[in-house]
Parts: sequence; C-alpha cells; structure tokens
Amino acid sequence: MSKVLIIGAGGVGHVVAHKCAQVPEVFSEIMLASRTKSKCDAIAASVKERTGRTIQTAALDADNVAETVALIKKFSPKLVLNVALPYQDLALMDACLETGVDYLDTANYEPLDEAKFEYKWQWAYQDRFKEKGLMALLGSGFDPGVTNVYCAYAQKHLFDEIHELDIIDCNAGDHGQPFATNFNPEINIREITQRGRYWERGEWVETDPLSWRMSYDFPEGIGSKDCYLMYHEELESLVQNIRGLKRARFWMTFSQNYLNHLKVLENIGMTSIEPVDYKGQKIVPLQFLKSVLPEPGSLGPLTKGKTCIGCVMKGVKDGKERKAYIYNICSHEEAYREVGSQAISYTTGVPAMIGAMMMLTGKWRGEGVFNMEQLDPDPFMEKLNVHGLPWVVVDL
Ligand code: NDP
Repeated sequence: MSKVLIIGAGGVGHVVAHKCAQVPEVFSEIMLASRTKSKCDAIAASVKERTGRTIQTAALDADNVAETVALIKKFSPKLVLNVALPYQDLALMDACLETGVDYLDTANYEPLDEAKFEYKWQWAYQDRFKEKGLMALLGSGFDPGVTNVYCAYAQKHLFDEIHELDIIDCNAGDHGQPFATNFNPEINIREITQRGRYWERGEWVETDPLSWRMSYDFPEGIGSKDCYLMYHEELESLVQNIRGLKRARFWMTFSQNYLNHLKVLENIGMTSIEPVDYKGQKIVPLQFLKSVLPEPGSLGPLTKGKTCIGCVMKGVKDGKERKAYIYNICSHEEAYREVGSQAISYTTGVPAMIGAMMMLTGKWRGEGVFNMEQLDPDPFMEKLNVHGLPWVVVDL
C-alpha cells in the first residue's frame, strides 16, 4: 500500500494513471501533477469512469525544484514517477533527494540545447542517491525499459554469453494523419534526426542519420518492414551490463511517407533546436513545429494495427550457438479499448507502472541509480504477462 506521485499528463501519463489505478493493492493513493492541471483533471475523470477510483490532481512546474519539493511534502508519496519530458529529469531527481523519496523515469535527461541521449548526467547522481539510501530507476518504458529487461532475462536464462544484439522497434500501426509522431514530437524528432550510432568490438561506430536500412519479417501477420539504424539510449547501459557483447544495434521502422515529411521539415529548418528570431522573440523551430503537430494523446481513437518491439540476440549456450528473439505484440485498438490510448503510450506506460510496482513492493530494491538490466528480470517479466504486455521467446 503506497502513495505514488505521477508527474506529466501527456500520452504516457494518461496510461500510467489508468494502469496504477487498476492495482489498488500496490498504488493505494495516486496524485497526477503536470504543467496544465486541466489535462490532469481530464485523465482523472477517465480513470474514475474506467476504474471507479478517484485520483488527486495538481498543477506543477517540474522545472522548479522548490515547487516539486512543496508538493512532495504535502502529498508525501513513496515514489515519484516521472513521465514529463526528459528536460525535467534532473530537477525531479533533486526534489527526490531533498525530500527522501524514490525516483523513476522513462527517458534519459536531455539539456534543452543539445540532443545527446546520454546517461552521464543521471549516472552522476549515483553517490547522492546511495548516501540517502534512495533508489532511482532509469528508463522504465518499453525501449528503454522492457528491451533492457529482455536482455537481462536472456542473459539469465537463454545464453551463457550474448554476442550480438539487435533491438528492433516496429510500429505497424496507421493513424491516418499525413504526419504525426506517436510520442512527444520534440523528443521523437530530436532522436530520429541525430546521427546513428552502434557498438562494435568495444567502440561506437557513427552513421549518417537513417542511412542504414534492413528489411525484417515481423511475426503474427505484420510481415516485412523497412527498419533504420538509429542510436538509442539503452545501448549505452546495455554494452556495460551485458556479458560478452560484441555488437549492439537499434533499429526502428518508418514508412516512406513519414521519412519524406521529415526530410522536407529538416530541409527547411523546422527540426532545428537552435533558437531563431521571430518578430523580436526567440523561438526554437522544433518547439514551434510541436505546437502545430497532433498531440500524441489525440491519436488514440485513430490508430489501427500493431506494434512489435523486441530483441534479436545471438550468442552461446552450453557451448553451442544460439539465436533467440524475445518480443511483444501490442494492438493499438485493444490499448484504446482498455485505457483510451494508442499502443506507443500504452507500451511505455505499462512498464512504468510495473517498474514502480517492483520498487514499491520491494521486489526491486537498491541504493543508488539503476538501469533496468541491473535488476532481476523475473518478477518484471511475470508482471508484463499479467498487465497487458505478454512476451514471446522464439529460437531462430
Ligand atoms: P507528452 O508531450 O504527451 O507529455 C508530456 C507531459 O509533460 C505533458 O503533459 C506536459 O505538460 C508535461 N510537462 C512538460 N514540461 C513540464 C514541466 N516543466 N512541468 C510539469 N509538466 C511538464 O509526452 P509523452 O507522454 O509522449 O512522453 C512522456 C515521456 O515518456 C517523455 O519523456 C518521453 O521521452 C518518454 N517516452 C519513453 C518511451 C520509452 O519507451 N522509454 C517511449 C515514449 C515516450 P503540458 O501538457 O502542459 O505540455
């Protein structure tokens, strides 16, 4: 029985609030706080309608540590579950340290003026969390998140050593919009337009953005899709924590239509994070673009089809070569029926709730800052099957 403070009332916050409300034996009291209180209230109304539970709401500027500290002191949660934006991570970690509360997020800290996708800023909190006897769990979404847990599970049960890892994120859904992103447009476009990077024989190898492509034949009727090599943050911790890894890559599917729109937006400077002068005011083109694109949360009723996210791994078991694929298939329509969201928000929000459940029930406990693969994968994998993201292991 624990109180949880969820911060961020976007697409993912919507799912996390509903999923926590479904488990009253763990999340006995829930508060949802975000910049725009009306969005929290709309989610609270939906939670009430779907689960019968009342959750509290509050307005919060999570960049303001003193404001967060005051809210934490008032509500006294055991855990802060951060599903605002990566820019808020450090301020929220500071507020947790000041109030003695555990912390969880789904995306690594990003400075506003650089797209880096690095853990260095958050790993630097290791000693401070340790000294206070607190736990910070980083990246408890799907990727990062479940993909890290799949690797830990494979390391524990399927392989003696994993040599090659390909994380493949396929969204075979269609929202019918000319161009929209499935999670926060600013973060999504920053991630996709940066240079590609993968790990090989102890070194990072850089590629031009989206310049490497492969076709992958996805299971359960999804079929063959084009996948593009990108850098993704979980690679940074996985290459440190998975034994024997010689190569690690991350791939994501994009339609040609999506890539064409992105190319045009890039060519005309709309994806830039450099501020420009507009009528005497500084504006960031990408932030302006975000304001005219559909909100990810609004895609719920429109999106049809499935996602398939998983890890293809090659390595050795008992002296023999082995190749295995662990994946989840999630239906956009089923996610919408259950909680009123599309599958990208759903596949992020469910693991965020399960990560919080692991911490609050003591299944995952530690002092310091942790990435997901550093903890026992078994209880987390068990809960994925129970709470809407069942997984499959196949030998290839
Ligand atoms: P949205 O843009 O839909 O929601 C973000 C929410 O954070 C909004 O409600 C926004 O408020 C709120 N917010 C922004 N700044 C502040 C602030 N200073 N103080 C308080 N609240 C603030 O994003 P998503 O829900 O799609 O994504 C949420 C997080 O999940 C992101 O960090 C994203 O990177 C991560 N993510 C992780 C994935 C994974 O698999 N690991 C996959 C997808 C997303 P307002 O409504 O007022 O703008």
